[in-house]
Amino acid sequence: MLVDSYARVVDYLRISVTERCNFRCQYCMPEKPFSWVPKENLLTFEELFEFVKIAIDEGVKKIRITGGEPLLREDLDKFIKMIYDYKNDIDLSMTTNAFLLKGVAGRLKDAGLKRLNVSIDSLKPEVAHAIAGKDVLHNVLEGVEEALRVGLKVKVNMVPMKGMNEGEILDVLEYAKARGMSIRFIEYMENAHAKANISGMKAKELLEAIAQKYGFVDEGFDGHSPSHYYVTEEGYRFGIIEPYEDDFCKKCNRIRLTAEGFLIPCLYFDEAMSIADCIKRGDIKGAALVLKEVVRTKPEKNRWGGEESEVSKRAFYETGG
Ligand code: SAM
Ligand code: SF4
Repeated sequence: MLVDSYARVVDYLRISVTERCNFRCQYCMPEKPFSWVPKENLLTFEELFEFVKIAIDEGVKKIRITGGEPLLREDLDKFIKMIYDYKNDIDLSMTTNAFLLKGVAGRLKDAGLKRLNVSIDSLKPEVAHAIAGKDVLHNVLEGVEEALRVGLKVKVNMVPMKGMNEGEILDVLEYAKARGMSIRFIEYMENAHAKANISGMKAKELLEAIAQKYGFVDEGFDGHSPSHYYVTEEGYRFGIIEPYEDDFCKKCNRIRLTAEGFLIPCLYFDEAMSIADCIKRGDIKGAALVLKEVVRTKPEKNRWGGEESEVSKRAFYETGG
């Protein structure tokens, strides 16, 4: 079992299979071209899988594939199947912008994927375009319909921003609700790569918007999820992720692996250790030691909203959020 210095059990691995993305979401990625990690520096799926086996053997029970945009990486279903075949009761999920989902959702499910989180920030084509930097909505919605049709469990993620999609809180909630999908509103987390002057909506403002139509009760936190849950009078459950609050880190059970092989103990901080060399030379013991060291050095909490608050330099498109 992997336990950090604050007695938190770490059993959740998020793997960013690529930092590249077909969107340029204002809150995540700079618009201007910048240099990607050269392809030859990326770990192959076989190499990533070598590390996945170590992590599972050490106690990881939950794996999320993310990016950048994970669907940009070819043969993703084969990687998912490798993990599923190694341990089929792993909680295997993926976060995607869904642009490329139509046509592959069935293959992902057949490979062993159980759940999907899809980012939908707006249901208005022009607003979705403004946020993502291109015309995306039609493909995204088609991708979601197909995922539901093939039987994947889908959750919606929305980052609400003032002056952007703030009028759509109820619309996106109702879109998700009508399709039996839960929704999580993610408070915008400041970072050095986002467009300047984004002003994220806070939980209080989101709840005020939802209260205009629905009564709800506060259910608090559930297990290790960072979401603060609420349930409407008619029984629909929605969550809000509040990284600026203390509770966000108390039950954190996750570490992150980048496509280059860096293991990251915390989403906020820049610190990371590489498992790439160990994996490339077949040093399983060495990679397991790096994993244990990263878990040991996991910080107690992030600095969003804290007294020493500063803009995080960590890029969401590298870590996968
Ligand atoms: N490309 C995929 C997607 O957008 O779903 C997966 C990677 S993306 C980095 C994972 C999640 O991080 C998305 O739900 C996205 O909305 C969220 N995210 C990215 N930047 C963020 C920020 N600055 N604040 C809050 N959430 C952010
Ligand atoms: Fe790409 Fe996801 Fe970042 Fe948007 S949030 S730019 S879709 S990685």
